[in-house]
Amino acid sequence: MKVKKFGGTSVGSAERIRNVGKLIADCKKDIVVLSAMSGTTNSLLEISGAIEECDRKRAADLIDSLHDKYKATIEDLYATEDSKAKASEILDSIFDELRMLKEKHFSVALEKEIVAKGEMMSTNLMNLHLQELGINSVLLPALDIVRIDVHGEPDEAYISNEAKKAIKEASDADLYITQGFICRNERGEIDNLQRGGSDYTASLLGALLGAEEIEIWTDIDGMHNNDPRFVEGTTPVHNLHFEEAAELAYFGAKILHPTCILPAREHNVPVRLLNTMDPSAEGTLIENKLEKNAIKAVAAKDNITAIKIKSGRMLLAYGFLKKVFEIFEKYETSIDMITTSEVGVSLTIDNEKNLARIESELSQLGTVTIDRDMVIICVVGDLEWTNKGFEAAALEALRNVPVRMISYGGSNYNISFLIKKEDKTKALRLLSYHLF
Ligand code: ASP
Ligand code: MG
Repeated sequence: MKVKKFGGTSVGSAERIRNVGKLIADCKKDIVVLSAMSGTTNSLLEISGAIEECDRKRAADLIDSLHDKYKATIEDLYATEDSKAKASEILDSIFDELRMLKEKHFSVALEKEIVAKGEMMSTNLMNLHLQELGINSVLLPALDIVRIDVHGEPDEAYISNEAKKAIKEASDADLYITQGFICRNERGEIDNLQRGGSDYTASLLGALLGAEEIEIWTDIDGMHNNDPRFVEGTTPVHNLHFEEAAELAYFGAKILHPTCILPAREHNVPVRLLNTMDPSAEGTLIENKLEKNAIKAVAAKDNITAIKIKSGRMLLAYGFLKKVFEIFEKYETSIDMITTSEVGVSLTIDNEKNLARIESELSQLGTVTIDRDMVIICVVGDLEWTNKGFEAAALEALRNVPVRMISYGGSNYNISFLIKKEDKTKALRLLSYHLF
């Protein structure tokens, strides 16, 4: 059994839904996880925003225009009047609920209830489309299956039990369709796994049900070896270790949400990134396997602030780093990169919210210097320390770029450089030129 997730653009129109229908039509017993049609989640958030501003008229107009969009999709998607009638009935009732919700007082819980409708719509449309094609597809209700605990973390035991139960109850189905992103919380209220959370749903279900593979379908042919917005001629990376993929996702490769592959990694279920526009392309396979002696990819993370604390007292002193870290902990600011010397420490953050207070407390420990508008360039691959030449090759590529910090040895999979924003494109191109 495989879990196959299709994102918002992959189901973004009647034509795209039919296209996904073709891709999954003969997937026996697979679980298909869908996002909302592209644009819908944002529209629902806008509706909720209008309710928050007590602008009921605007909320009503926004609901009507979204409803019109879905009516047009239904007209376009189905061949028979019977299917159109069935789809209209389901969608009309979802929109009736939205119209009822818009009369309520705004709360975060209400917003979550509203935003959950997007995945309900897309999965119902797909389910009826498959049934029209003669496929016995069954909807698995994510709201009965996926639950998060008090800390917002998925309740894995519950999810595993409920998913198995729901599949057993519909054991004669050809395939299963379920909603990504949406869930309930520990109080039983409708909640979600945060923006982009459909990947997370797929990863959780695939991991907990012991799928043979988790497929994440988007509209690019996998993870590329550099950022195609800045570098020409990038190519897809066919194989990545989970750790390499995690570094890349964290350091800017937009294709996967960084936390989403965690369950797959823990349960050792491979994740394959595929392209709905080019289904036969190889894509990227992410698994617990490392290709030795290869640099795989480069990614950049913007809006980084570097902080240097220089102190004579650090020399031969213990407890200095602890004092530094405690200040960041106090102001709930996470540190990305860190380098040290005998007289000081440099580190980076990507959230300046509490910078002024952090700076003022740090200045009691030493002289503080701050550099804004920096970029972390992350080179990912087999960078185990006993290898020779790979870190040197990355450094050599950046020979003519001023480098503020270098971080190496924190994992076996990356070396990172901190540079000025102005040098980002040049650095990415140089790395591609010299490494690939
Ligand atoms: N529909 C949700 C969003 O737009 C979840 C997802 O697409 O993964 O964030
Ligand atoms: Mg997405």
